[in-house]
Formats: sequence, structure tokens, C-alpha cells
Amino acid sequence: MLTKNQIYEAEITDYTSEGQGVAHIEGCAVFIPNAIRGEKYLVRIEKAQKTWAAGKITEILEKSSHRVNRECPVAKLCGGCDFWHMDYEEEADLKAQRVKNCLNRIGGENLEAVPILDAPTCYGYRNKAQYPVASRKGRAYAGFFRAGTHDVVENKRCLILPEETDRVKDAVMDYVNQFRVPAYDEIAHTGLLRHIYVRRGAVSGQILVCLVINGRSIPKAHELIGRLKKIPGFTTLVLGVNTKKGNAILGDEFITLFGPGYIEDTLCGLTFRLSPRSFYQVNHHQAQRLYEAAIDQAEITKDDTVLDLYCGVGTITLAMASAAGKVIGVEVIPQAVEDAKDNAKRNGIENAEFFCGDAGQAALELEAKGIKADVVVVDPPRKGLNADTIEALARFAPRRIVYVSCDPATLARDVALLKERGYVLKNAMAADLFPRCSHVESVVTLSKLADTHIDIEIDPLELEEVVDRVHPTYPEIKEYVLEHYGFKVSSLYIAQVKQKCGLDMRENYNHAKPGGKPQPQVSPEKEAAIRDALRYYGVITE
Ligand code: SAH
Repeated sequence: MLTKNQIYEAEITDYTSEGQGVAHIEGCAVFIPNAIRGEKYLVRIEKAQKTWAAGKITEILEKSSHRVNRECPVAKLCGGCDFWHMDYEEEADLKAQRVKNCLNRIGGENLEAVPILDAPTCYGYRNKAQYPVASRKGRAYAGFFRAGTHDVVENKRCLILPEETDRVKDAVMDYVNQFRVPAYDEIAHTGLLRHIYVRRGAVSGQILVCLVINGRSIPKAHELIGRLKKIPGFTTLVLGVNTKKGNAILGDEFITLFGPGYIEDTLCGLTFRLSPRSFYQVNHHQAQRLYEAAIDQAEITKDDTVLDLYCGVGTITLAMASAAGKVIGVEVIPQAVEDAKDNAKRNGIENAEFFCGDAGQAALELEAKGIKADVVVVDPPRKGLNADTIEALARFAPRRIVYVSCDPATLARDVALLKERGYVLKNAMAADLFPRCSHVESVVTLSKLADTHIDIEIDPLELEEVVDRVHPTYPEIKEYVLEHYGFKVSSLYIAQVKQKCGLDMRENYNHAKPGGKPQPQVSPEKEAAIRDALRYYGVITE
């Protein structure tokens, strides 16, 4: 075990999914922020556990040619971005490698490389901002949360946002400070203004401003509207009512104070209506390239029925409609389904249908009703597909499955599950929609293996092994936990948690030897991480 506060020499060999550097010192994985692969440092250990530690660079001994001076003045404080200390070439490369590593290690592939749609610019690309508001000594300010905390770091100019978006924030804060609108205090649950939410159409230039408030009205609204009207593109002002404690930014109720309450934007040649709640990728240019890649990989013909699960406001569904016979979208948020239907109408698309419901359940119902799907597109949130959706995909048995993902680890898990259901991976591509931030999107295509029927005899013991394969292996669980939580877990701990969940476990684990030392017991933190891994792998549901 490394010693806290002691200085060690470290060489970065890899990155975590959050973009921290990983070094190995005396057999212990050390996570180091602001690090670059290949660099050597002196690091101070700030937190030391048995198998992992967290360190901070005190001196760079060998510098990478990819290290650059940070352009963003608050990069070190703000929790928004991760990569201002490296050039974009290294960032794009680490993202492509991350997708490849997940597909190989978790997905059982053997890919030499995964191409990446790298971004043409790291500046001004983000079409949505959510600035938290706080106040100190009677002055309110807005910015971003400090990494890992809820302290607000004031930020005058955020380089990944368009300038107009920061101008909106400044106009709102001028109004707030002039009319003494109280900033929300998270701990005391007092005050009014919680967040300034701004969405700007990349093509239309239209701007939606939503003030998220702990109440139902703001003082002197006309003063604010007057200021916002001076900003080119300002289209609508909405109040988002959120009187609940907790981290959720938007509430469920919206009150329009000016304009229509939504904006429009153009994507893949179609017009979309966007309300505060609608999901819309934040990087327009890169989202369009991602969707084009998905459409290309889908190889749709005019006779095909395409099912788009997790369809949001129907972006991918509608972009595929002209190539297909029929498209069907499924989405869980009712407002998004209404938007999707409206978007079909406004673009004159008549071969699209939308259903509201859980993707897996709705897909199973559609399949039971005799609906056929030749191609299925899925674009789930980070947790990936649930067991119902995998089952529905297996029953639909589409020719192709196009999987758009925002988490390569769960994507890779699902690829492995779909391979067990008779699919092979055809294409894999990473896409950088979040330059300077550690998130990475990807799109892969799976195609159905030809239906061949072979009778084989299987020994019941072998069958048990096959069934066992459906569960993640211990190394897969360890990999998942390291990737998502940054620490290692032992097989013993995994066995303990599996036993608590009523799952099978290896015979030799978890039994202390008679007369031997009592075995160490998994900590609540590690148990939560292992349970999360089991949930991600669809082994447990809660
Ligand atoms: N394909 C769309 C949206 C992708 S985001 C686009 O690119 O614009 C994922 C979407 O899945 C969100 O709209 C979210 O509301 C929806 N979603 C989350 N859980 C779901 C579930 N269980 N069933 C159906 N949709 C779900």
C-alpha cells in the first residue's frame, strides 16, 4: 500500500473513462488528473487504498509533445471539461482507443483499431448550457460546478459555448443583481434562481432561455425580457419550476413568459421543435455526422420497416424515413413523443409512427402484435439496454441492429449479449461529440448470422457452462468497476455481493477456512460499485 502524502515517481500508461491518467506504482493503480500518456512525474499521494490510490502531479519529469498550455482560465477548477492540458490529437486518439478497448475487453472482439469521427473544432460547439447560480456577500454569480462538488465556480467566458450563450447568462445576471433576485441556496433550500438554462439552435440561431426557479414567478420579468431582446436570436423565455430538493436540474412544469416556449433547428435537412426538456445532441455538426454514419451503416431499403428505440424527439427516426418503407419510434418521455409526432408533421413525413413507453416493453408488445422490423436502431442512455430490450431484439431478429451509444462499456456488454443471440459485429466507429470532455459516443452495427440449424448434443455440464457465460465474468465485473469507479475489487468481494443478491458463486470463495482468519468483508462503497456492475450486466434489476 502506498503512503499518503509521500512523493513517488510515476509513468502514465493509460486513461480512466473519466480521462484521468493511470500509473502503476508498486502494483497499485494510481489515478492522476491532468496527466498525459507517456509522461513521467513526481506525484504526491492524496488518497491511498490497498489496490489503488489518487495522486497529484508535483513535478513533470518527462513532458509529452501533446501537452499544451490551457486556454481556458478556469480549466483547473471547473468540473465541465477534462482535457484542456492536451492537444486535440491525443484526446481524439484516447477516445478511439477507449471504444476499441471496451469492445475488445468487454465485448469479446479483437479489433486492431476503431476509427473516430473527430471534431473540426473544440470551440463554441455546445448548443446547450446549464449554469448554476450562487451568491456571495450579496452578489449573485453564475458559472459551473467545481469538479466533484456543488461549489459554483464563476466563469465569465466558457470556450466550448457560443458567445451568444454567455451573453444570455450575463444579461440574466445583470438583471438578477440589479433587482436583487435571490440565488438559490442548495443547503438551506431557500432563494429563487437555481439554474440558467440556454439552448441555441446551431443552424437557426434561435435562443431559448429557461430560468429554473424554486418558485413559480420572477420579479420584474419585463426588465429581463427587455435585456434578452437585445441579444440576436433570442426567441423565447420560459420558467422551469423546480421546488424540490436534490440534484435534478429541470422540474416538470414550464411557464412560458415570452415567445412560443420552444425553438426550432435544422438537423439532417429536417426541422425540429425543441422544448427545454427535449433531448437534442449538444454538438450539432458532430451529431449530424454520427446520424449520417448510423444511416449509412443501417443499409435501409424502401421495403424495410425500421424500429428506432429510445428515439427522443425523432431525430434518427425521421432522418431515416425517406430511405425506408416505414419507421417506428419508441420513447419513454410523453413530451418528447408529442414533439416527435409534431416533427413528423412539420416535415411532411407520413410513414412515421411513434409510441410512448419503455423501449423493451413497447418493443415486446409490438412484436407480439405481429409487427416486423428489418432494421432496429437503438440509442439508449448510459446504462444501455435492459433485458427486455435484448429479448425483444432477439425476437424481432432484424437483419441489422444499429447501436448508437454514449457509454462504450455498456455498449460492449450489450454487443456481447447480442452476439450470444446470433449477431456479429460488422462496423464500429467512435464519434467525438464532446471535445475537451471525457465522454465519447460510438455507433456500431451488428448483422444477423445466416439462420443455420444444426443439431448437436450437449453434455448437461457443458450446458451449465454456456448458461454461466450469460453472466459477466469476474474479470468483466472488475474491469467495469475500475472503469466507472476507479478502484479495484477482489473476486472475494464480488462473490460476497453475488451471494447477497442470491446469485451463484464459485465454491472456493467466501468460505473462511476452519480455524483461519476471518475473511475481509466487502465495504459498502465497493458493494455499491459491484451491484452497479451486476445491474449494468442485466444480472440484477435493483
Ligand atoms: N435518438 C435520440 C435520443 C437519444 S437519447 C437522439 O439522438 O436525439 C436517449 C433517449 O432515450 C432519451 O430521449 C430518453 O428520454 C429515452 N429513454 C430513456 N429511457 C428509456 C426507456 N426505458 N425507454 C424508452 N426511451 C427511453
